[in-house]
Amino acid sequence: MSADLVIKNLHVSVEGQEILKGLDLEINKGEVHAIMGPNGSGKSTLANTLMGHPAYEVTEGEIWFKGQNIVKLSPDQRSRLGLFLAFQYPSTIPGVSAASFLRTAVNARRGQLDASGNGNRKGESISMREFRQLLKEKMAMLKMESSFAGRYVNDGFSGGEKKRMEILQMAMLQPEIAILDETDSGLDIDALRIVSEGVNQLLSPNLGVLVITHYQRILNYIKPEYIHILVNGRIVMSGGPELALKLEETGYDWVKEAVAGG
Ligand code: ADP
Ligand code: MG
Repeated sequence: MSADLVIKNLHVSVEGQEILKGLDLEINKGEVHAIMGPNGSGKSTLANTLMGHPAYEVTEGEIWFKGQNIVKLSPDQRSRLGLFLAFQYPSTIPGVSAASFLRTAVNARRGQLDASGNGNRKGESISMREFRQLLKEKMAMLKMESSFAGRYVNDGFSGGEKKRMEILQMAMLQPEIAILDETDSGLDIDALRIVSEGVNQLLSPNLGVLVITHYQRILNYIKPEYIHILVNGRIVMSGGPELALKLEETGYDWVKEAVAGG
């Protein structure tokens, strides 16, 4: 049996420049992995490529998810299959409330568009009552005030609120593999703890998580079993939690030297 998500020899170019240079990684549901790497090593490039961002061109290699090569699928198709990305820099959507945004997202994830061309769906959409119940439950889990639901998506949100909004989306969409791109960046220690506890409550045998981070500190809260180090577009080292601690002590120079020397 191959893993739920299999990345094979992935090469990705942005604006004609090769950023990922042959990346291999396998993730199963129920597993928590972390990718650590210095700035500019290609972490967000990997995250955006997995989700199908059009600026990231796969020039070689494959991405298999649940037995299907998804390289040619659109982001919404990938989402329906069960992939999710929490952005490093979430966008603001003035005029659209968080609740309305989330309900649209949940419905889009649930059903395929039918052939009518007028936006109708074959799948069953969530009832208003069921939606409100689910939203209330997930917001409580993330310690979010109920007024949050009525605010425009990320409009005037603090760094911590934006990241909570990302994890709230994840909680509502119930993906099978979730990629968290520097969810720790810009968070103070309290926000980091709340966001991490939210993620931990979502962990289950039906969810695989890829935590992408520059710093070790989020891994004090979300505990991965597997750590991978990304340098210059390749995973140069993989190991257990001890690898993150070693990085914290010695920084990335040690890895770069080990790679250059070996
Ligand atoms: P990380 O997330 O590890 O800091 P990135 O994947 O964001 O690294 O960036 C890796 C390299 O790719 C950098 O040199 C960056 O300038 C370049 N890059 C990434 N995304 C884009 C983009 N959308 N347009 C131009 N260059 C990009
Ligand atoms: Mg990044």
